[in-house]
Amino acid sequence: MKVKCPTCHTEVIWNEQAKHRPFCSKRCQLIDLGQWANEEHSIPSDEHKLDTLPDNIDIEDIEAMLAQQSHNDDFFKP
Ligand SMILES: [Zn+2]
Repeated sequence: MKVKCPTCHTEVIWNEQAKHRPFCSKRCQLIDLGQWANEEHSIPSDEHKLDTLPDNIDIEDIEAMLAQQSHNDDFFKP
């Protein structure tokens, strides 16, 4: 079975080895999570997503950003 990566639309073979399915990679998984976090996921246009996909994105930067956001959520809890 093949699925298309929601982030970059690369075909992904859906099996036990595809650790990041339905994404093709951790990079695309984190990009998608980051878009949810930034509330930019409401635009369903695939072309838009491809246009805005950073070319040289750094996974460590995204992980740091997500960690920062979860930290902030905790911070604002009563
Ligand atoms: Zn991908």
